[in-house]
Amino acid sequence: MKKISVGILGATGMVGQKYIQLLENHPWFEVVHAAASPQSAGKKYKDVLKNGWIVGGNVPAHVAQLTVEDVGDVSKAAKKCAFVFSAFEMPEKDLIRKYENEYAAAGMPVFSNASAHRGTENVPILIAEINPHHLEIIPAQQKAYGWKKGFVVVKPNCSLQSYLTPIYALIAAGHKVEKLIITSMQAVSGAGYPGVASWDVIDNVVPFISGEEEKTEQEPLKILGEAKEGKFVPFKGLTISAHCNRVPVSDGHLACVNILFGKKKPAREKVLDIWKKFRGEPQKLKLPFAPEQPIIYREEPNRPQPKTDRDADKGMAVTVGRLRLDSVFDFKFVALSHNTIRGAAGGGILNAELALKKGYVEP
Ligand code: NAP
Repeated sequence: MKKISVGILGATGMVGQKYIQLLENHPWFEVVHAAASPQSAGKKYKDVLKNGWIVGGNVPAHVAQLTVEDVGDVSKAAKKCAFVFSAFEMPEKDLIRKYENEYAAAGMPVFSNASAHRGTENVPILIAEINPHHLEIIPAQQKAYGWKKGFVVVKPNCSLQSYLTPIYALIAAGHKVEKLIITSMQAVSGAGYPGVASWDVIDNVVPFISGEEEKTEQEPLKILGEAKEGKFVPFKGLTISAHCNRVPVSDGHLACVNILFGKKKPAREKVLDIWKKFRGEPQKLKLPFAPEQPIIYREEPNRPQPKTDRDADKGMAVTVGRLRLDSVFDFKFVALSHNTIRGAAGGGILNAELALKKGYVEP
């Protein structure tokens, strides 16, 4: 099969580099276009990485030679790309929305990592194992904006990637989950590059990440919600309270979760069985980036840990452990996911694979 040409917006950043690294040998997609800020535009990709290639290994040879384009120059991408992965950052969220809309208007589906469109009522926040049916809103979105082939699909905040799939698996198995308390310990790579100052994070924990607790509490309700008349209506009946902390870990967001069920709590063995057997649409479709087992339970009393578990199944699986009774709620457990893979570039790639397989992307 001839590979599909794709572009990376924000190609020089932490997530953009991760996209380029993960797509190097992708069976379906090939990076042909790299875009970043106007300061980077016009130079060779290999020369423009201000702080070097920070994701390990080497810059893929064909990408190293690409001339970096300005994210604002949509027509250059339209000539080459079937769709784009968006991972650029700007202080003005309305400008990010404007650019992403321009790509969609020019006929390119946009798979975005930015938060700018997560609140847009007809833009799905997609976790491929949880709400693949939310892609069905695409025709209504295209009609609302007058787009023909383009659309925007976003990924959720990386903080909720670790705990939401295990919670969803329980809900999907018929157990009403009423309340969650989440305490996240989030890696420094989550803040991009150079991100958090070393002075702030070495030998320290920062108990504040701007906007993160709101996203952790609200985005799951949209993901678990349903589309009605071309708009997403948030899920009702689940309340989430989040504490988000920055910790001196390079990659891997860990969350301690307390869970209260609605009526009767399932037995511990039942919860473990649900997690073990859980599979989603990406697994059924055997998508290239789908982890074989989306939720991996570790029996060891001191797991999961970022160092040992973040790369589980190419960084795409969520690892959970320490499921035990809680003296205030019903159970508590610990969950971990790789923030720049499952929580960013890998999750974006999986979303694109799903949209392609479901016929929403024209090769
Ligand atoms: P980053 O390392 O700071 O990279 C930012 C990127 O945006 C760079 O490519 C930069 O290009 C580009 N950029 C900056 N100003 C621009 C402008 N005016 N016009 C066009 N491009 C501009 O950030 P990151 O961590 O990769 O995050 C990228 C996006 O992914 C953000 O929306 C972030 O919230 C989201 N995200 C990140 C993670 C994570 O774990 N890091 C997880 C989930 C989602 P130059 O090099 O030319 O400045």
